[in-house]
Amino acid sequence: MARYKEAVCRLCRREGIKLFLKGNRCFSEKCGVSRRSYAPGQHGQSRSKLSAYGMQLREKQKGRRIYGIMERQFRNYFRIADKKKGITGENLLQSLERRLDNVVYKLGFAPAMRLARQLVRHNHFNVNNHRVNIPSYIVKKGDVIEVREGSRNLQVIKDSLKDVDKRGVPAWLQIDSSSMKGIVQNLPTRDEINLPLKEELIVELYSK
Ligand code: SF4
Repeated sequence: MARYKEAVCRLCRREGIKLFLKGNRCFSEKCGVSRRSYAPGQHGQSRSKLSAYGMQLREKQKGRRIYGIMERQFRNYFRIADKKKGITGENLLQSLERRLDNVVYKLGFAPAMRLARQLVRHNHFNVNNHRVNIPSYIVKKGDVIEVREGSRNLQVIKDSLKDVDKRGVPAWLQIDSSSMKGIVQNLPTRDEINLPLKEELIVELYSK
Protein backbone atom coordinates (compact mmCIF):
# COMPACT_ATOMS: atom_id res chain seq x y z
CA MET A 1 0.00 0.00 0.00
CA ALA A 2 1.26 3.47 -0.83
CA ARG A 3 2.11 5.68 2.09
CA TYR A 4 3.65 9.01 2.95
CA LYS A 5 7.40 8.68 3.45
CA GLU A 6 8.59 12.26 4.07
CA ALA A 7 9.26 13.90 7.45
CA VAL A 8 5.96 13.55 9.29
CA CYS A 9 6.45 16.64 11.48
CA ARG A 10 5.90 18.68 8.33
CA LEU A 11 2.36 17.27 8.22
CA CYS A 12 1.58 18.57 11.72
CA ARG A 13 3.09 21.95 10.92
CA ARG A 14 1.06 22.11 7.72
CA GLU A 15 -2.16 21.49 9.68
CA GLY A 16 -1.09 23.78 12.51
CA ILE A 17 -1.76 21.20 15.23
CA LYS A 18 -0.13 18.19 16.81
CA LEU A 19 -1.22 15.03 15.02
CA PHE A 20 0.86 12.79 17.34
CA LEU A 21 2.58 10.84 14.59
CA LYS A 22 5.93 10.24 16.30
CA GLY A 23 5.25 8.69 19.67
CA ASN A 24 7.11 10.07 22.67
CA ARG A 25 8.73 12.86 20.70
CA CYS A 26 5.28 14.42 20.35
CA PHE A 27 5.14 14.94 24.11
CA SER A 28 8.63 16.43 24.32
CA GLU A 29 10.00 19.87 23.63
CA LYS A 30 11.49 18.50 20.41
CA CYS A 31 8.02 18.46 18.84
CA GLY A 32 8.11 20.26 15.50
CA VAL A 33 4.89 22.19 16.15
CA SER A 34 6.15 23.44 19.52
CA ARG A 35 9.42 24.60 18.00
CA ARG A 36 8.06 26.11 14.76
CA SER A 37 4.34 26.80 14.90
CA TYR A 38 4.05 27.91 11.29
CA ALA A 39 3.55 25.93 8.09
CA PRO A 40 6.63 24.47 6.39
CA GLY A 41 8.06 25.84 3.18
CA GLN A 42 9.22 29.17 1.83
CA HIS A 43 5.85 30.88 2.32
CA GLY A 44 4.93 29.06 5.50
CA GLN A 45 4.93 32.19 7.64
CA SER A 46 2.95 34.32 5.22
CA ARG A 47 -0.08 32.24 4.32
CA SER A 48 -3.33 34.16 3.87
CA LYS A 49 -6.87 33.37 5.06
CA LEU A 50 -8.35 30.15 3.68
CA SER A 51 -11.42 30.02 1.43
CA ALA A 52 -14.36 27.77 2.36
CA TYR A 53 -13.02 25.13 -0.03
CA GLY A 54 -9.54 25.51 1.47
CA MET A 55 -10.89 24.85 4.96
CA GLN A 56 -12.74 21.73 3.79
CA LEU A 57 -9.63 20.48 2.06
CA ARG A 58 -7.43 21.06 5.10
CA GLU A 59 -9.89 19.23 7.35
CA LYS A 60 -9.92 16.23 5.02
CA GLN A 61 -6.13 16.19 4.85
CA LYS A 62 -5.96 16.38 8.63
CA GLY A 63 -8.25 13.34 8.91
CA ARG A 64 -6.24 11.38 6.38
CA ARG A 65 -3.01 12.19 8.15
CA ILE A 66 -4.23 11.31 11.62
CA TYR A 67 -5.20 7.83 10.41
CA GLY A 68 -2.37 7.54 7.87
CA ILE A 69 -4.71 6.74 4.98
CA MET A 70 -4.29 7.55 1.31
CA GLU A 71 -6.92 9.49 -0.62
CA ARG A 72 -8.69 6.66 -2.40
CA GLN A 73 -9.13 4.60 0.76
CA PHE A 74 -10.31 7.64 2.72
CA ARG A 75 -12.92 8.39 0.06
CA ASN A 76 -14.10 4.77 0.23
CA TYR A 77 -14.65 5.18 3.97
CA PHE A 78 -16.75 8.23 3.18
CA ARG A 79 -18.85 6.35 0.59
CA ILE A 80 -19.60 3.60 3.10
CA ALA A 81 -20.37 6.14 5.85
CA ASP A 82 -22.71 8.01 3.51
CA LYS A 83 -24.76 4.87 2.84
CA LYS A 84 -25.21 4.07 6.53
CA LYS A 85 -28.05 5.41 8.68
CA GLY A 86 -27.19 8.32 10.97
CA ILE A 87 -24.86 11.30 10.66
CA THR A 88 -22.38 10.72 7.83
CA GLY A 89 -19.47 12.54 9.50
CA GLU A 90 -19.87 10.55 12.69
CA ASN A 91 -20.20 7.29 10.75
CA LEU A 92 -16.96 8.15 8.97
CA LEU A 93 -15.04 8.80 12.19
CA GLN A 94 -16.46 5.71 13.85
CA SER A 95 -15.28 3.47 11.00
CA LEU A 96 -11.82 5.01 11.08
CA GLU A 97 -11.58 4.63 14.87
CA ARG A 98 -12.52 0.96 14.62
CA ARG A 99 -9.58 0.09 12.38
CA LEU A 100 -7.36 -2.47 14.07
CA ASP A 101 -4.20 -0.35 13.72
CA ASN A 102 -5.95 2.56 15.45
CA VAL A 103 -7.27 0.29 18.22
CA VAL A 104 -3.79 -1.17 18.80
CA TYR A 105 -2.44 2.39 19.05
CA LYS A 106 -5.23 3.63 21.33
CA LEU A 107 -4.86 0.61 23.63
CA GLY A 108 -1.24 1.64 24.13
CA PHE A 109 0.44 -1.32 22.42
CA ALA A 110 2.32 1.07 20.13
CA PRO A 111 3.57 4.64 20.67
CA ALA A 112 2.40 5.88 17.26
CA MET A 113 -0.11 4.88 14.62
CA ARG A 114 2.58 4.05 12.04
CA LEU A 115 4.25 1.65 14.40
CA ALA A 116 0.90 0.13 15.33
CA ARG A 117 0.26 -0.59 11.68
CA GLN A 118 3.67 -2.18 11.30
CA LEU A 119 3.16 -4.36 14.36
CA VAL A 120 -0.23 -5.54 13.07
CA ARG A 121 1.23 -6.36 9.67
CA HIS A 122 4.03 -8.33 11.31
CA ASN A 123 1.59 -10.72 12.98
CA HIS A 124 1.95 -9.58 16.58
CA PHE A 125 -1.78 -9.52 17.45
CA ASN A 126 -4.71 -11.86 17.84
CA VAL A 127 -8.33 -10.80 17.65
CA ASN A 128 -10.62 -13.24 19.46
CA ASN A 129 -7.78 -15.80 19.54
CA HIS A 130 -7.16 -15.62 15.80
CA ARG A 131 -4.14 -13.98 14.21
CA VAL A 132 -5.11 -10.84 12.31
CA ASN A 133 -2.53 -8.92 10.29
CA ILE A 134 -4.79 -6.54 8.38
CA PRO A 135 -4.48 -2.95 9.68
CA SER A 136 -7.86 -1.96 8.20
CA TYR A 137 -9.69 -4.83 9.97
CA ILE A 138 -12.77 -3.32 11.65
CA VAL A 139 -13.26 -4.35 15.27
CA LYS A 140 -16.69 -5.02 16.78
CA LYS A 141 -18.14 -4.63 20.24
CA GLY A 142 -16.82 -7.39 22.48
CA ASP A 143 -13.71 -8.13 20.39
CA VAL A 144 -10.62 -9.06 22.40
CA ILE A 145 -7.32 -7.82 21.01
CA GLU A 146 -4.19 -9.29 22.53
CA VAL A 147 -0.47 -9.42 21.90
CA ARG A 148 0.39 -12.90 20.65
CA GLU A 149 2.30 -15.07 23.06
CA GLY A 150 5.55 -15.06 21.07
CA SER A 151 5.50 -11.24 20.84
CA ARG A 152 5.02 -10.39 24.51
CA ASN A 153 8.71 -9.70 25.03
CA LEU A 154 8.93 -7.13 22.27
CA GLN A 155 10.55 -4.09 23.88
CA VAL A 156 8.61 -1.60 21.78
CA ILE A 157 5.28 -2.96 23.07
CA LYS A 158 6.47 -3.15 26.69
CA ASP A 159 7.84 0.41 26.56
CA SER A 160 4.68 1.70 24.97
CA LEU A 161 2.47 0.12 27.64
CA LYS A 162 4.49 1.90 30.33
CA ASP A 163 3.27 5.22 28.90
CA VAL A 164 -0.36 4.20 28.51
CA ASP A 165 -1.48 6.19 31.55
CA LYS A 166 0.17 9.33 30.24
CA ARG A 167 -1.61 9.01 26.90
CA GLY A 168 -4.90 7.66 28.26
CA VAL A 169 -7.20 5.00 26.79
CA PRO A 170 -10.58 6.07 25.36
CA ALA A 171 -13.67 5.04 27.33
CA TRP A 172 -14.89 2.63 24.63
CA LEU A 173 -11.78 0.48 25.08
CA GLN A 174 -10.38 -1.30 28.10
CA ILE A 175 -6.79 -2.40 28.55
CA ASP A 176 -5.26 -4.96 30.88
CA SER A 177 -1.55 -4.17 30.61
CA SER A 178 -0.41 -7.15 32.66
CA SER A 179 -2.01 -9.68 30.30
CA MET A 180 -1.42 -7.45 27.24
CA LYS A 181 -5.07 -7.74 26.35
CA GLY A 182 -7.65 -5.13 25.36
CA ILE A 183 -11.41 -5.28 24.93
CA VAL A 184 -13.77 -3.24 22.75
CA GLN A 185 -16.39 -2.39 25.35
CA ASN A 186 -18.58 -0.35 23.03
CA LEU A 187 -18.47 1.24 19.64
CA PRO A 188 -17.10 4.78 19.92
CA THR A 189 -19.49 7.72 20.09
CA ARG A 190 -18.43 11.12 18.73
CA ASP A 191 -17.83 12.40 22.26
CA GLU A 192 -15.39 9.57 22.85
CA ILE A 193 -13.41 10.30 19.68
CA ASN A 194 -11.13 12.96 21.02
CA LEU A 195 -9.92 14.48 17.78
CA PRO A 196 -9.66 18.10 16.66
CA LEU A 197 -11.59 17.37 13.48
CA LYS A 198 -14.59 19.13 11.96
CA GLU A 199 -15.93 16.10 10.12
CA GLU A 200 -18.85 18.07 8.69
CA LEU A 201 -16.37 19.96 6.49
CA ILE A 202 -15.07 16.65 5.12
CA VAL A 203 -18.64 15.62 4.31
CA GLU A 204 -19.24 18.95 2.55
CA LEU A 205 -16.10 18.49 0.48
CA TYR A 206 -16.93 14.99 -0.67
CA SER A 207 -20.60 15.78 -1.25
CA LYS A 208 -19.87 18.33 -4.01
FE1 SF4 B 1 3.63 16.16 15.08
FE2 SF4 B 1 4.72 14.54 16.86
FE3 SF4 B 1 6.26 15.78 15.06
FE4 SF4 B 1 5.10 17.12 17.09
S1 SF4 B 1 6.68 15.54 17.23
S2 SF4 B 1 5.19 17.77 14.97
S3 SF4 B 1 3.11 16.07 17.25
S4 SF4 B 1 4.69 14.25 14.66
